[in-house]
Amino acid sequence: MVVRHEHAARAHPGRRVTEPKLRVTEIFRSIQGESTHAGFPCAFIRLTGCSLRCVWCDTAYAFHGGADMDLDEAVERVLRLETRLAEVTGGEPLEQEAVYPLMERLLDAGRTVLLETGGHVPLDRVDRRVVKIVDVKAPGSGMQSANLLENLDRLQPHDEVKFVIADRRDFDWSLALVRERNLDAGRVVTFSPVWESQPAADLAAWIRDSGRPIRLGLQLHKILWGDVPGR
Ligand code: SF4
Repeated sequence: MVVRHEHAARAHPGRRVTEPKLRVTEIFRSIQGESTHAGFPCAFIRLTGCSLRCVWCDTAYAFHGGADMDLDEAVERVLRLETRLAEVTGGEPLEQEAVYPLMERLLDAGRTVLLETGGHVPLDRVDRRVVKIVDVKAPGSGMQSANLLENLDRLQPHDEVKFVIADRRDFDWSLALVRERNLDAGRVVTFSPVWESQPAADLAAWIRDSGRPIRLGLQLHKILWGDVPGR
């Protein structure tokens, strides 16, 4: 542990003085549940706080609380989980300044870094190596006005766009946006049903009949273990 700290300090002189702390809700190892990486072991770091309030949010426990953690400790705890994938999630991770060096350090350590973001914070400071999984908030979220649609012009082919679908109105709205912006051209677009209220089979049929290469997203971790923190 000491060796890694000394190495980090040599590689980035002065970092200890300038780096802000992270506010962290939890760090854990699980199975990636809802992207094209679903099914693989993954280390998750869930950062605390989000300025949105999506009505179907399944991580409201991360709005408050958490613990301050310096970058060295956070990186070390993620690496100690020994997974190829590391996912930075929340809350809204991009609302914390320290998330940028966190992602860079995980990338430099050889991890494939996934970022789950609500889509309301500019993506321009995110390292290009990060796989961004960007939400677009449909009307049923109650947060449609927060969408920063310019973000969709900054995506790379390896990034993914995710719509959470609460009902048929959400589906129609989302499909219209996919068509209008050609979001599924060379990129993965996922529609995921709201776990509690939108039957997945209905969404599957709507996608099947949409004529677009949209991916049905099911939250594998919830199918396996239910809707519980730390999974
Ligand atoms: S952006 Fe994400 S964390 Fe924030 S309220 Fe919406 S679903 Fe929850």
